[in-house]
Amino acid sequence: MAAIVERFAPSPNGALHLGHAFSALTAWDAAQKKKGRFLVRIEDLDRQRCRPELEAAMLEDLRWLGLNWEEPVLRQSERFEAYTDALASLEQRGLLYPCFCSRKDIDAALSAPQEGAGAADNGPDGPAYPGVCRNLSEPERANRKASGAKFALRLDMRKAIAALGGGGVVAKLSFKEIGQGPNGEKGRINLSPEQLVERCGDIALARKDFPTSYHLAVTLDDAHQGVTIVTRGEDLFGATPIHRLLQALLGRPTPHYRHHRLIRDDLGRRLAKRDKDKALAALRAEGISPEQLREQLSL
Ligand code: GLU
Repeated sequence: MAAIVERFAPSPNGALHLGHAFSALTAWDAAQKKKGRFLVRIEDLDRQRCRPELEAAMLEDLRWLGLNWEEPVLRQSERFEAYTDALASLEQRGLLYPCFCSRKDIDAALSAPQEGAGAADNGPDGPAYPGVCRNLSEPERANRKASGAKFALRLDMRKAIAALGGGGVVAKLSFKEIGQGPNGEKGRINLSPEQLVERCGDIALARKDFPTSYHLAVTLDDAHQGVTIVTRGEDLFGATPIHRLLQALLGRPTPHYRHHRLIRDDLGRRLAKRDKDKALAALRAEGISPEQLREQLSL
């Protein structure tokens, strides 16, 4: 059987904390157990917030934890061409449209009375996009572009589902959850076309400020690196159906997914960059050892 390929994919926009350590160690331990491969991918799409010194500090923390990985690491900032090519192919198939909305426009449209049933639950990027720019005419789009207005590119979710053969076919798409979703979801998880339309909606695949979105980049990169198991926090479980749909649209393989519990602070909030005392650098400075840290994480 081919070796498993695990990955840890941090964004160098702050310091690694206990939650990151849990994720990285879970993936690394799994790779060791199966004599598989372990990769690190630097998710540095956001050129404003991601900084080389933060990347160096992250890699230093990971080494201290006892991890090693294949060199060179892959950086998303070096992969813009691959993202642009995939966008061009989706655009040619008529599955994307430009969205000129600002955050304020979207909030205003969302707060207007909605037709039909009440607002669906939030999707992985917040409430589903209300569709304002989906219905712009071609001349209107051309005018706005000509005036220099910046735009994002959104996936027309209904058209994407139709392009794959319709809701019935999409409902047969699935992924294998070898960890657990936030509500105990495990095993074979089927895509729900209704959920894709109502919860996720027309997700952005390229943003106004950079030429891809997390969803597109992560899907393409996991395929490019031959990742067979995606280990990550259960907060991303809701994004996985989008990644599965993109794999189908772009002809990429589907890895298995291991979503894991989140590490929380004393108030039960998931750790974030604000929890400076839970940063690995702070814990290291206090003199904690990697073994003690593993114990603290029940690993
Ligand atoms: N870069 C993401 C993060 O730091 C993780 C993405 C993923 O594992 O799919 O939260």
